[in-house]
Amino acid sequence: MKLSKLLGVGCLVFFISISSWSASAPAITIFVDATSAARKIFHARLKIPASAGDLTLYYPKWILGEHAPDGPIVDLAGLKFSARGQTLKWRRDLLDGFTIHVEVPSGATEVNAELDFLSPATFEGGFSAGSSATEKMAVISWNQVLLYPQGWKSDDVTYAATLKLPANWKFGTPLPIASSTADNGETQIAFQPASLTTLIDSPVITGEFLKVVKLADDPVTEMDIAADSAAALEAPPEVWQHYKNLVEQANKLFGAHHYRDYHFLFSLSDHVAHFGLEHHESDDSRIEERGLVDETARKMAASLLPHEYVHSWNGKYRRPADLATPDYQQPMQDDLLWVYEGLTNYLGTVLTARSGLLTPEQNRDDLALTAAALDHTPGRTWRNLQDTADAAPQLYFSPQAWHSWRRGVDFYDEDTLNWLWVDVIIRQQSKGKKSIDDFCHLFHGAPSSGPMVKTYTFDDVVDTLNQVVTYDWRGFWTERLTNHGPGAPLAGIEGSGWKLVYDETQSEMDRGAESNFHFVDVAYSIGLELREDGTITDTIEGMPGARSGIGPGMKLVAVNGRKYSPEVLRDAIKAGKGGNAPLELLVENSDYYKTYKIDYHGGERYAHLVRDESKPDLLTEIYNAR
Ligand SMILES: [Zn+2]
Repeated sequence: MKLSKLLGVGCLVFFISISSWSASAPAITIFVDATSAARKIFHARLKIPASAGDLTLYYPKWILGEHAPDGPIVDLAGLKFSARGQTLKWRRDLLDGFTIHVEVPSGATEVNAELDFLSPATFEGGFSAGSSATEKMAVISWNQVLLYPQGWKSDDVTYAATLKLPANWKFGTPLPIASSTADNGETQIAFQPASLTTLIDSPVITGEFLKVVKLADDPVTEMDIAADSAAALEAPPEVWQHYKNLVEQANKLFGAHHYRDYHFLFSLSDHVAHFGLEHHESDDSRIEERGLVDETARKMAASLLPHEYVHSWNGKYRRPADLATPDYQQPMQDDLLWVYEGLTNYLGTVLTARSGLLTPEQNRDDLALTAAALDHTPGRTWRNLQDTADAAPQLYFSPQAWHSWRRGVDFYDEDTLNWLWVDVIIRQQSKGKKSIDDFCHLFHGAPSSGPMVKTYTFDDVVDTLNQVVTYDWRGFWTERLTNHGPGAPLAGIEGSGWKLVYDETQSEMDRGAESNFHFVDVAYSIGLELREDGTITDTIEGMPGARSGIGPGMKLVAVNGRKYSPEVLRDAIKAGKGGNAPLELLVENSDYYKTYKIDYHGGERYAHLVRDESKPDLLTEIYNAR
C-alpha cells in the first residue's frame, strides 16, 4: 500500500497517491453537513469528475472489520445528480443494489451528487450501521455518506472532505486536518485530501461533551471520548493510567507500530449501538454511558479497547490476503478470521491483564467463562471452527436463539483458547526462552511505519510460527480448525498450569456480567440461557432443560409453584441438590402455559480456573506486564 514509505504527519502530499498524479484517478470533493445529527440525518454533497456516458457509482458494501456486505444501503436517501445545471437520470443496477448508474450528458466534466444518510431513529444494535447519533454526540462513518466511482482502487481515488458540526460540538479523528473554522459556534473542518481508503478508515467522533486524554507522545496516542453527559467522562485517575499502560505494553508486545498517530474514539452512550470497530489509526468503540465511571460496567468492557488497538497491527497492518480487497464492492473471504480476530482476541486479553485494566484473577475468571461457554456448545459436533469463519457474514447477524446448536462467530473465543495453547507450546518447546511475543515481533513488528497493508496466507502463519520454534504447526492448526470436539480445546489452559472447574460460587466477573447484561447464569446446571425477566434465549441441546422439552423463545413464569425471579430459580436449584424431586418450571409458550419437570440434582455450577500445582504457572507469566 502506498503509504508504506510515507511515515510522518502534517504534509498534504503524503495523502495523494502516486497514481493520482500520473493517471487520471479522480479527485472528489465531499461536504458533509452533520448539523442535524440530533435528528439522525446527515446531508452530503459530492463533486465527482465524469465524462459523457454511463457513470457507475458504488455505495460501500463490504465494510472492513465487519467482515460482511452490511453497508447500510437502505439508509441512503435524497439521492440526486446534476451536471451543468441539469438534473440527471439514474438507475440502480438490477444485479447489485449497491451500484448506481448515472447518465452523464455530453460536455459535462463533473457530476454533483446530493445524498442523505438516515441514521437509525430508534435504537438499533449491530455495528457501524446501528445507532450512532444522540442529542449530544455522534460518530460519523464516511462510508455511509459517500459514493465512489467504478474502475479505481480505493487507494487511488482522492477525497477532499469538509465537515460541518452542530453548534458547540467538539470532535476527534485521526484524519489530518487542513483548517478548522468556527462560525456562531458551528465548526467547519476542512481535512487534508486523503485516499478513499484512508477516509473510510478515519471516522469522526463529535459531541458536546468530549474529553481528550493524551496517553503517549511520539507518536501521539490519545483517547477522544464523547459521552451523553459530562459526568460520564469523570473516570477515576487509575483508569487513564491503565490505558497509558496499554499503549506501552502493546508497543512492547509488537516492538513497532504502524500508524502516524492513534486515536481511541470512544463513545459512552446508552443510545448508540455497542461494539468496537478497528481502524489503522483509530478505533470506533462504543459502550454504555456509565461504562467508564461505573466499576462493574468498566470491568465488563475492559478488553474492548485492547482488542481494537491490537487490530492496528493484526488485521489492519497484517491482513489475510483474502480480506485485502481493492475496494468495498469485491467480496471478502473470511477464512483466516481465526488469525485476524482469533489472535487479536487472545492478545487483547493478554494486554488487558498486562495493562492492569483487569487483575490477573479477573482475567482468569473471564477466561473460565469463555472456556465454559465453548465447552457447552454442542454445535461443534456438526460445524467445525473453520466454518464459523467461512460463514461469518451470516453468523454475525444470527439470532441468540439456538446459538449453542447453530454456533456463532466462535473464531473469537475459541481461538483465544487456541492461541493460548500456541503460546504455551512455544514456551514449552523453547524451554521458556520464547513466547507469543516473539511471534508478534516477527509477524507484526519492525520497522515502524505509517499505515500499510502486508498480506498473509495460512502458510505465512505456519512459517512464522516455525521461525519461533519448530513444531508441526500446520498439523496443529489443521486439527484445531477441522475437529468436531466434542469439548472445547482446553489444552492451552491446562498446559498453562490451570484447570477449568465448576463450583457453587459465582466469580466476580460472572456476577458482574449477570448484573450488567441482565441475564441469569444457569447454563452449566440446567442448561438454560435466560434473561433476568425469564425469557429463555437459548437451551443447550443435551442438557436437562432441553431434555425436558423447553426451547428458546419460551418464558419462565414460575419455579416449583412460586412466581419466577432469578433468586427463586437459584434457590430452587440449590435446594434440589442431591434430592429426588424434579425442578418444576411453569413456562409460557405462544400464549399457552405448561409445566416442565427437570430431573436435575447437581446444584449450582459456576465456572472457575483453579491452579494445577503439578505444572508451572505459565498463565501468570503471560499476564505479567513487560
Ligand atoms: Zn476484532
